[in-house]
Amino acid sequence: MSTIRERRITDQGLEIGLAALTQDRIREAVQAIRNSETGAKMKVYHETCMRCGMCAPACHFYVSNDNDPSYAPVAKVHQTMTRILNGEDIGPQDVYDFAQIAYTECNLCRRCAFYCPVGIDIGYIMSTVRRFCYKLGMVPQYLNDTGNSHASTMNQMWVKEDEWTDSLLWQEEEARDEFPHIRIPLDKEGADIFYSVIGPEPKFQTQLIYQAACIMHVAGLDWTMPSFPGWDNSDMSMYIGDFETMGRVKKAHFDAAQKLKCKRIVMGECGHAFRSVHDVGNRWLGAKDSPVPIVHSIKFFADLIREGKIKIAYKIDDPVTIHDPCNVIRGRGLMDELRYVTHALCSNVIEMTPNREYNYCCCAGGGVINCGPPYKNSRVQGNRVKAEQIKRTGATIVISPCHNCHSGLEDIVHGAKIDAKISFLGDLIYPQMEKPAHFTEPAPCNGGGHV
Ligand code: SF4
Ligand code: SF4
Ligand code: SF4
Repeated sequence: MSTIRERRITDQGLEIGLAALTQDRIREAVQAIRNSETGAKMKVYHETCMRCGMCAPACHFYVSNDNDPSYAPVAKVHQTMTRILNGEDIGPQDVYDFAQIAYTECNLCRRCAFYCPVGIDIGYIMSTVRRFCYKLGMVPQYLNDTGNSHASTMNQMWVKEDEWTDSLLWQEEEARDEFPHIRIPLDKEGADIFYSVIGPEPKFQTQLIYQAACIMHVAGLDWTMPSFPGWDNSDMSMYIGDFETMGRVKKAHFDAAQKLKCKRIVMGECGHAFRSVHDVGNRWLGAKDSPVPIVHSIKFFADLIREGKIKIAYKIDDPVTIHDPCNVIRGRGLMDELRYVTHALCSNVIEMTPNREYNYCCCAGGGVINCGPPYKNSRVQGNRVKAEQIKRTGATIVISPCHNCHSGLEDIVHGAKIDAKISFLGDLIYPQMEKPAHFTEPAPCNGGGHV
């Protein structure tokens, strides 16, 4: 069995935090976790865990590291939260260990909760360990940078307001070569759909905005995007444990949709953003559900196809498999909708084993991929089981409607030398949907201008 100290990875953010740690600060943070940050839920989990170890084989880190007991979900809790709750002596080096375990060796994917006979949610426990570390300034540097960006700009990628609108106008202009009448309507009051995306899209994945605009246009939808902060639905602050910033970011997002009086928020293909809007951030703000109805794009696309608003012109016959992003499958139950859309687009779908809510996590989520290059090797090694799952299917396309999964799976197939490409649903819908002639006819010569 390895130990976390033997696996230590040097991280500048953690080193800086470590230098400022004192025993008094640690004691204060322990008291905060014990007295005000947790309640009955944590107490019940702490007191009902039987140390049976049934959660161990559920965790991709454990399985992919040759069943090393140190990676078992219960062992991660035992090395961290159990010590906090038991009031054990915790020193600065221990807090470094806690941070490495909680931020980089657990994706908060909640697969283990499905195998625990008493339903203990270790994702919740590890997110509370992160909260403890955050209170002590012990956050991996790359992840912390995304949190600083959220706090300063209300988006994850330091995108300035004029860069955001420039990206949208640029994509609209590009799309006009194909669809002369297309618009990306900005700040349209009363629109049916407020469409939101994550920070990386305007930064380096603008083709996803292009595709979404084309799909909305062909489906004839009444939609808009805001020109002001609140457009980014992502939330790395949630994963840092900085719940105060998470709340501000989520409020900006809901406020933007409400200011424009939109009827619903449709979110792009992202898992963690959905968790933050639909499960965690909304509740932190005190909403029973969500202040504005939320639709993930899996469900959105399924409805468009089912209602005939977009028609699929042809199916591809390449072997395709499906990765089930945990935040929208275990977290929201969209597994059947994901398969409905996939089968509408592909004639040769081969399921991974296990699949649906029992599918393994991609090992990138929970903010782990955002911890950056220092942890890339441990992340890829921590998901050998996913590489084996994909390889067994023989698929050349892996559908993954989640940004983090997408990036993580690219590393996995590359690392395992699997000849497969990772695809969003939009990557297939856009080229395969019917584009009736009246959409592609040249625009009349009447000026133009933006809403
Ligand atoms: S990575 Fe997932 S399965 Fe492993 S301990 Fe964390 S929540 Fe559980
Ligand atoms: S399966 Fe549940 S009860 Fe058993 S060790 Fe894991 S968390 Fe504890
Ligand atoms: S990145 Fe995808 S599979 Fe991984 S934790 Fe997030 S939603 Fe789950």
